[in-house]
Amino acid sequence: MTDVEKRQDRSPVPTDWTYAPAPESTSILTIEERYGLYIGGEWQKAKEHFTTISPRDESPLAEVAQASEADVHDAVAAARTAFKTWSKLPGAERSKYMFRIARILAERAREFAVLESLNGGKPIKESRDVDLPLAAAHFFYYAGWADKLEYAFPNRTPQPLGVCGQIIPWNFPMLMLAWKIAPALAAGNSVVLKPAETTPLTALLFCDVLRQAGLPAGVVNIVTGDGSTGAALVDSDVDKIAFTGSTQVGKAIQRRLAGTEKKLTLELGGKAANIVFDDCAIDQTVEGIVNGIYFNQGHVCCAGSRLFVQESIYEPVIAKLKQRMATLRIGDPLDKNTDVGAINSREQLTRIEELVEAGKEEGAEIYQPPCRLPEQGYWFAPTVFTNVAQSARIAQEEIFGPVLSVLTFRTPEEAVEKANNTPYGLSAGVWTEKGSRILWMAERLRAGVVWANTFNRFDPTSPFGGYKESGFGREGGLHGMEPYLTFDAAETFGG
Ligand code: NAP
Ligand code: MG
Repeated sequence: MTDVEKRQDRSPVPTDWTYAPAPESTSILTIEERYGLYIGGEWQKAKEHFTTISPRDESPLAEVAQASEADVHDAVAAARTAFKTWSKLPGAERSKYMFRIARILAERAREFAVLESLNGGKPIKESRDVDLPLAAAHFFYYAGWADKLEYAFPNRTPQPLGVCGQIIPWNFPMLMLAWKIAPALAAGNSVVLKPAETTPLTALLFCDVLRQAGLPAGVVNIVTGDGSTGAALVDSDVDKIAFTGSTQVGKAIQRRLAGTEKKLTLELGGKAANIVFDDCAIDQTVEGIVNGIYFNQGHVCCAGSRLFVQESIYEPVIAKLKQRMATLRIGDPLDKNTDVGAINSREQLTRIEELVEAGKEEGAEIYQPPCRLPEQGYWFAPTVFTNVAQSARIAQEEIFGPVLSVLTFRTPEEAVEKANNTPYGLSAGVWTEKGSRILWMAERLRAGVVWANTFNRFDPTSPFGGYKESGFGREGGLHGMEPYLTFDAAETFGG
């Protein structure tokens, strides 16, 4: 034995640096066996139910109501009644309720974060540090506007629309709920919200927050169910539909509402370009690439799923990216060390697997770091494809999973041309030390959000939304308040 080995032998310092499990306890949660529908401030019984599970091990969590057309009708009627008094309240009164909701959400954040990760599969550190703080921040932000609408829209007379039907997806259940409900309430509307089929539990827990806050009955109603419940809401007697989800369903809703008086906003899919120039801060950029695509298992509409690297630094960027990917920890969403959690549903996993197969068949080169995936539940290893053709399905279609497609470019003009060559236009990223180049790129990229030297940053004050097939209408900021208001025709923005 050498001296060094002898010293190591006596040393208390561990030689194995793998992380010990650090599971977040679920003891803070009380999950009911069976949930009804939250209509008119009461729990109403439903005729049919379905089981909601945890994607980490497919274990059943609760029975959730499948709202029928008649149930949706009742919820809209309750919202219609509540609208009469809610819309007449002084803004300062509405904001009191909203500040209460925000405070209670912040106080109960841990409970919500644990439930979000359990039902949806996202890492607890994300639901704890991103989803819940941002959801509370949205209520705080819009609460502040409720009594200042005439200052927010000077020389105009903002009025609420009426009853808003809101349909949200499964990737950010609480955050999407907050994005939808907060501006609607601040503007004086009442709401019927349908959460996604696979992630209804935090929206149902939110009903308890509404009760605690003393929100008048019927101002917010929650109807759970599958796509047919969403379709019933679209067809019901609402004044507006706000939808976040896939482009396919968004288009179907738009067709359905064509020729009606109902207002519509759509937040749909994306295929964001994350563009890396050769003067970037390379380690920071690699962190941004990883955050851009592996955050929330890539179940992010604005995920940086197409990486464009300037040819001159292609090799070091890809080498560092692969090194960094090998350090990602994949596993139990409730473990505080986990970086990449479970895929949300079997259906989504099948879609990811199919597109990854297509990528291989079309000749792209696949890399996955060595990692052990849990045996039960839905899992997919972080994946990067190099040698991707611009026409390949993995470069064109939204995968909505932890799969990155890498392409290259030589000049800024070429980067813009390639980045804009997609039916989508939700977000983009630019990595360069040159400020003028950031502005030059931002002007030319057809994307609702352009991040510079960062990615996936959200703030309630900042508008978010898409171009082209990524939808229309904005959420966040005053831009996100406007689609929940009506103005005299002569006062409409821009005309
Ligand atoms: P989805 O299938 O379109 O579902 C979205 C919501 O619509 C769910 O509540 C869904 O219910 C409901 N729905 C399904 N069919 C409907 C119909 N015919 N009429 C009315 N509602 C219907 O999308 P997803 O698979 O849940 O979510 C992933 C997609 O959402 C991705 O494409 C992603 O890019 C997009 N997304 C966009 C944003 C954004 O802000 N732009 C944010 C997040 C996600 P079920 O759950 O029962 O199917
Ligand atoms: Mg769906």
